[in-house]
Amino acid sequence: MLIVQKYGGTSVGSVERMKNVAARCLATARQGHQVALVVSAMSGETNRLLKLVNEIHDDPNDREVDVIVSTGEQVSVGMVALAIRAAGGKARSFLGHQCKIVTDSAFSRARIVSIDSQPIKDALDAGEIAVIAGFQGVDEKGSITTLGRGGSDTTGVAIAAALGADVCEIFTDVDGVYTTDPNVVPSARKIDRISYEEMLELASLGAKVLQIRSVELGMKYKVPIHVRSSFSDVEGTWVVPEEISMENVVVSGVTVAKDEAKITCEDLPDTSGVASKLFGPLAEASISVDMIVQNQAHDGTTDLTFTVPRGDRKRAVDLLRAQVPDLVGPEGQRIKFDDEIAKVSVVGVGMRSHAGVAKRMFQLLAAENINIQLISTSEIKISCVIARKYAELAVRALHDGFGLSLPPSERAGL
Ligand code: ADP
Ligand code: ASP
Ligand code: MG
Repeated sequence: MLIVQKYGGTSVGSVERMKNVAARCLATARQGHQVALVVSAMSGETNRLLKLVNEIHDDPNDREVDVIVSTGEQVSVGMVALAIRAAGGKARSFLGHQCKIVTDSAFSRARIVSIDSQPIKDALDAGEIAVIAGFQGVDEKGSITTLGRGGSDTTGVAIAAALGADVCEIFTDVDGVYTTDPNVVPSARKIDRISYEEMLELASLGAKVLQIRSVELGMKYKVPIHVRSSFSDVEGTWVVPEEISMENVVVSGVTVAKDEAKITCEDLPDTSGVASKLFGPLAEASISVDMIVQNQAHDGTTDLTFTVPRGDRKRAVDLLRAQVPDLVGPEGQRIKFDDEIAKVSVVGVGMRSHAGVAKRMFQLLAAENINIQLISTSEIKISCVIARKYAELAVRALHDGFGLSLPPSERAGL
């Protein structure tokens, strides 16, 4: 088999742990498999580099920022390759530009356009373990790019797709995907098998165990993803195409995202064209708007509330003030914002065939006296915006209220 193993920051967080990675991949190779590794920066390193950058400069879209933050992975690949050699194996390291991970030029959040997997194949055919830097690529002009936080997951799955690997193993510091973050809710349970679709929702709604883009690529190129612990041999979670039995589980997981802010524009004229005028400047500035709620108009005016990434909130308000003063007031006095929000969500493919999940979610939040500020739904998820100080309480209430601490067969109906 051809196996891609991705090791996250904690898994390569010290020399001892790098030696553990070397031992693990050599054990896999000894079973007769070809192995390509994708490794992250040592834990804390990317944060350290970003902090350094922020002391000089606050625009993450700058080319030079990626030059700096990509270096953490360069250290890791060299170290892990040396660790494999020290343990008696053969290994070769690859930076993003050396196995031609070509991306677009969106610095700090680049998307992979193509991969030339030939250099990696040559290494594997020569009996070497290929050790590839996660998170980084190169754009058409040769500038170094990075794929956004958690981007090594995406490198892992993209390399697996490019090589036609049998599996992409994501080694991390928890032993699989849980019903909610096990570091926040100790009663969380490991999920044995989860559909790409559900995993995509969990990832996009705050479960950072896999980067969203890695799940998208896995789904598109049908790469089976196995999320597992780098500290034990236990079977982890398989992310796979949807299976019929998965529909029996109504709610699979609960997530929380704390990185959004809420903006309200008050007393807008209730006429056509207002929303497009308001959101136009934001779209042009590549600010992604998430939830949007417009209140019923009574006196010919209406309020419109939406959420944006918290890091973009200031820019969004400044843009609206400058570009649509007729809508928000010359000083922007009709704009209100709140940075202290959290979005809690419940996710499950079973929601397609079971009613009553929303009602139960609202009951559970009400029982904790948590006020719901915004609601949005899709076929397989329901999200509520609440005050951030209640985030953990809400996650625990929803997790246990939907019976997720029990095995699926023992969970009560809604
Ligand atoms: P790595 O450095 O290996 O990429 P990350 O820190 O990016 O690891 O992701 C693993 C972390 O994701 C876990 O330590 C856990 O706190 C968090 N997490 C959030 N939601 C979940 C979930 N539903 N299941 C498992 N882990 C989760
Ligand atoms: N080192 C990068 C980060 O910390 C990429 C990764 O670990 O996936 O976000
Ligand atoms: Mg990660």
